[in-house]
Amino acid sequence: MTVLELRPQPACDVDGWTRRACEVLRLDGDTVQSSHSLWFDLPPDAPAWDHADAEPYLIACLMLAMHEGRSLRVRGRVSRMLLENLEEYAAFWATTAPARYQRVTVEVDEVVQPLAPTTGATQPPTAIAAFSGGLDASFLVWRHHSGLAGLRTRQIQAAVMISGFDIPCDSVAHFDASLAVARGTLQSLGMRLYPLRTNLRQINKVPWEQLHGTSLVACLQFYKAIAPTALLGSCEPYDHLVTPWGSSPVIDHLLSSASLRIVHDGAEHSRSDKARLLAEWPFGADRIRVCWGDAHPGTNCLTCEKCLRTMANFAVHRLPVPASLGGDVARLNQRIRTVRLRSTAQAAEWRALLQLGGSGARDRWQGCITALLWRYELRAVFHARLRPWLRRLAGRAPVR
Ligand SMILES: [Zn+2]
Repeated sequence: MTVLELRPQPACDVDGWTRRACEVLRLDGDTVQSSHSLWFDLPPDAPAWDHADAEPYLIACLMLAMHEGRSLRVRGRVSRMLLENLEEYAAFWATTAPARYQRVTVEVDEVVQPLAPTTGATQPPTAIAAFSGGLDASFLVWRHHSGLAGLRTRQIQAAVMISGFDIPCDSVAHFDASLAVARGTLQSLGMRLYPLRTNLRQINKVPWEQLHGTSLVACLQFYKAIAPTALLGSCEPYDHLVTPWGSSPVIDHLLSSASLRIVHDGAEHSRSDKARLLAEWPFGADRIRVCWGDAHPGTNCLTCEKCLRTMANFAVHRLPVPASLGGDVARLNQRIRTVRLRSTAQAAEWRALLQLGGSGARDRWQGCITALLWRYELRAVFHARLRPWLRRLAGRAPVR
């Protein structure tokens, strides 16, 4: 029997951080095939934590176990609600991506029953949220601060910025600069921002586009003492959902446990909608950091696909391009032909921008979108059909 065993460890101090860790063992029968430490570093003023609580580790490693077809054994405490939800979460992935994931059993040392519901709702309801400084995250905090979410509006008590996801955990200067900008942004709304750094992506090599939902929730779990709900900013809107995808309104709630409810927030809005609404908060809009490059710590490269696409999200409404994205459309017009679309999700975003632009007078960048999409489609056909055929022809792969 092959098992992925999770053993929570007592906290220790590392470089001024409080390290909460879990030993991750691959067992084949009684033989230990590998052992790694999955760690999450929190600042000393982070909320208290019971090290027997294994929920973040289980959430962080579920996709890895499903990918490797290993049963999970958890040497700690998990709520029954989380176990029930993860069964359904696993069923989603085994159904939508059966070549990559299979259902696995989960054995837990201590299962906690759900608490009896408390009388009366907290007023106003509170939440924590992940905050990267990007458009989705900035829109999320603005939407809740300004009451745009209707009855779903939450008072966000604190946000968490993570080192180890889009910013590698050894890129200290990049993270510190991004954290400083983000802190200033959230301070203006009276929100506190906590950092967290983790080696999760080094331990779990499942493709990031399918892993980021569980990874974010695993990190937010460490702050659940602050509020009973965690908000995850939406990626694709309801009318352009990409399935399967690591974070979506279809599955994010299935990462809820008895002690932390997960809410996927904002899926009624496209990225361009979010830009339009965020423009009502110029201070926040001017400080967004959307770029995954590290050449310009704390800000944006202004040349990559995501930077240019976010400029377009504002420009399509004839709104000013935020200062952190260059301040005007000149760079977008100059660089639009250099864009290379690399995923279905990116193509869907540009297609939505094309539709939003309508058929009236267009800027130069809008006139180039159709060519970007054609190039993407042709490359997709080449990779799916022609390249395997050419490789077989060249004798590099056996003919089946
Ligand atoms: Zn960029």
